[in-house]
Amino acid sequence: MKVLVVDDSDVLRKITVFNLKKLGMEVEEAVDGVDGLEKMRSWHPDVVILDIMMPRMDGFTVLKEMKKDETIKDIPVIVLTAKGGQDDEQIALSLGAKKVMTKPFSPTQLVEEVKSLVNVR
Ligand SMILES: [Mg+2]
Repeated sequence: MKVLVVDDSDVLRKITVFNLKKLGMEVEEAVDGVDGLEKMRSWHPDVVILDIMMPRMDGFTVLKEMKKDETIKDIPVIVLTAKGGQDDEQIALSLGAKKVMTKPFSPTQLVEEVKSLVNVR
């Protein structure tokens, strides 16, 4: 199981990576949208965890770019949004995200969502 964590927050990436690795998942990190797309194309993760607010390229643009690329368009994406961005959820879902989680969330919650997307128990 390969999970790519795309978020500009070092702290969030660290916590998420730690919890996913604990479950035996392979995890790669990307620091913004450009880096994220690059790693999707080269590493082909099974699941992507995607932040919205990021420098260089935001999460919405990443979702749009993924749709244009046959090789990565079917990778399930869990989007992370900041509190207060109520429209973010609707936009992300309309752009193809499978799940939207509002920060702050517990690491356990996120791990459960990843597992439910890939049917791991
Ligand atoms: Mg961010």
